[in-house]
Amino acid sequence: MTIAEIALNVPLYRNFDYLVDEHPQAQIGARVSVSFSGRTLIGIIVAIKSHSEFKKLKSITKLLDSSPIISAQLLDLIKFSSQYYHYPLGESFHVALPNLLNKGKDPDDCAIPLLRLTSTDIKVTGKKQQQLISHLHDSGTTPLTELKALGFSSQTISSLEKKALIEQIIDYSDAWQQSAPSYGDKPILHDEQAVALAAINQTDDYRCFLLEGITGSGKTEVYLQALEKVLELGKQALILVPEIGLTPQTVNRFRRRFKNIPIMLWHSALTDSERLQTWRHCETGSCAIVIGTRSSIFMPFKKLGMIIVDEEHDASFKQQDSLRYHARDLASYRAAKLRIPLILGSATPALETLSKALQDKYQLLTLSKRAQTQQSNQFMLVDMKAQPEQSGLAKTSLEYIERELKRNKQVMVFLNRRGFSPTLICHECAWVSECHRCSTSATYHKRLHSLICHHCGEHNLVPPQCPNCGSTQIIPVGKGTEQLEEFLSEYFPDTPITRIDRDSTRKKGSLEEALNEINLGTSRILVGTQMLAKGHHFSEVSLVVIIDVDAGLYSYDFRATEHLAQLATQVAGRAGRSGEAGTVLLQTHFPEHPLLQDLVNNGYQDFARYALSERQETQLPPFSFLSVVRAEAHNLDDVLNFLNNLIPVELPHGIQLLGPIPAPLERVAGKYRYQLHIQADNRTQLHNYLGQLVDYITQLKVSNKVRWNLDIDPINLT
Ligand code: ADP
Ligand code: ZN
Ligand code: ZN
Repeated sequence: MTIAEIALNVPLYRNFDYLVDEHPQAQIGARVSVSFSGRTLIGIIVAIKSHSEFKKLKSITKLLDSSPIISAQLLDLIKFSSQYYHYPLGESFHVALPNLLNKGKDPDDCAIPLLRLTSTDIKVTGKKQQQLISHLHDSGTTPLTELKALGFSSQTISSLEKKALIEQIIDYSDAWQQSAPSYGDKPILHDEQAVALAAINQTDDYRCFLLEGITGSGKTEVYLQALEKVLELGKQALILVPEIGLTPQTVNRFRRRFKNIPIMLWHSALTDSERLQTWRHCETGSCAIVIGTRSSIFMPFKKLGMIIVDEEHDASFKQQDSLRYHARDLASYRAAKLRIPLILGSATPALETLSKALQDKYQLLTLSKRAQTQQSNQFMLVDMKAQPEQSGLAKTSLEYIERELKRNKQVMVFLNRRGFSPTLICHECAWVSECHRCSTSATYHKRLHSLICHHCGEHNLVPPQCPNCGSTQIIPVGKGTEQLEEFLSEYFPDTPITRIDRDSTRKKGSLEEALNEINLGTSRILVGTQMLAKGHHFSEVSLVVIIDVDAGLYSYDFRATEHLAQLATQVAGRAGRSGEAGTVLLQTHFPEHPLLQDLVNNGYQDFARYALSERQETQLPPFSFLSVVRAEAHNLDDVLNFLNNLIPVELPHGIQLLGPIPAPLERVAGKYRYQLHIQADNRTQLHNYLGQLVDYITQLKVSNKVRWNLDIDPINLT
């Protein structure tokens, strides 16, 4: 009797046995359809065995893949993720695989063609046609869908095809490995870069490098040159980038450098077919480099030779629902298994990563100066206590802004809160615009004349009168980017302003338009949220004002100061790139705060090392290991009852529990949210304990009354 053990996408911590029966060619890593509780489900074979503890097994209904669609290597990675994050295996597959594979689609059914030039004759009539030709000339073979996303119409493409200047191909061969790669223009590395590259090139085994280098110090150039050796060996590479960092600027740099090397992108805007397509190219080896966001860590590389994680500190690498994995941490598992190098790059490394580098578990490589200028930005603290403010801006800050505008420079004002003001209150009775479903106030959006809750999305018009006392004196309290923009446009009436936040960029193409205004210099003041903090290079910005620093200093989340310092440094990195040092003003009521002092005087590198010593003293991560059980329900008693049930009479040695404690927002969309923090001195101890805990939860009756999840190595405590 042959039995297949199958992982199914159901919320149960176990696999299911089915008889192989008429499908003797069934193999581990192939998909099957089976009948499960009256439904037909698609699952993955994870083991073949001759014995089952269950009797009366059903047979597999259909074998979908005659050979494994998931390689042993990928299977191992997904199994590890499921174990490490204590998430059911079947559901983990569901997260890791492209949607169409989960639905049972044949991967060869949705091939998307690539476009390439067939001729070097690049003189054509028609502006768009010429643009397409030059694009293909500069970037090499490009997927059709990517060209469409860049605005090339089917008409432009087909007319060039008719002239036989370009052709569509579906190519799963790894022909790129046969021809010697050619590299576009590249600079000569400066000393620190050369040292970093030599260290990376020396490695033929697993080794993790932390490339710690300020913005503009030439980290990307090191990645590019490190990739050369990988490609010359005919191996593939994965470059993980933050969600917001996958800009055309970045991608074009890789394409221009590696012209005859197939590069593909992986991000949230791809359609299901494009995803499957990229997956196939990766699996067959026909794609050499994948530049992708978080989930590309699960791509099925045939011959992976290197993983690079750019901006490794970025929060978008941690998935915040279902399988709560950290792509950087899985990258280190994958690289170790494959015995290949891993490069983690950042101007502001996460304390976890830095700590490993300082303990010599990772090799630290430092780039300390900007590649093209000698100047570093100057941080300055603006003491808010001593002076008047207008819409959140101190008098000093306004004077600085005015001075830079007079010098014809650009200025960036950063505030991580969109909308006009976070609250409306009644001047007479102190009524507050609370969201009735969440324990927070609804944000006032002036232009929309609305109150919008940023947590549950509830949307209401501003009441004409106070709902409580009938007064018409309802006033905004606190500041958001919309207000800042309004104030600045009144204060500097002749200065064009661009605001970049989720509200101002909702329309498709509006972000690109705004960035364009900035780069062309039409706009002089940029106002924005953290959308401004990443990836974009604004060479004429000479002054950055960061409005609200204090919230990060006094938060109950022990990571808040780290995140504040990273954000401030990243925002600062946008400025002063054109040869001249920029100034960064941090507005605070606590200019004497030691962490701020350290950041301002000595920079992130120093700050991070000091912050690490603080973590060590208090035995917080990375000097201990943390996980959080979160639970939510409409009924508060159910939530508390569930969490209280998880607290044993006697705790195992080395494990500490804290809670139940309310989440920072105790109520969202009508549900109460509480947490239990579980901390341990040792990772193995923690995982053994969590294993038992999950078993216990799945048997507990009250578990059904709440929605709960377990977050391993959480990056925030919200
Ligand atoms: P990072 O990734 O650290 O922000 P980049 O690699 O983007 O830095 O480098 C910043 C700028 O300096 C880019 O315009 C890049 O082309 C240039 N650059 C990098 N390394 C060198 C070098 N060795 N010589 C000259 N220019 C360089
Ligand atoms: Zn009132
Ligand atoms: Zn709400």
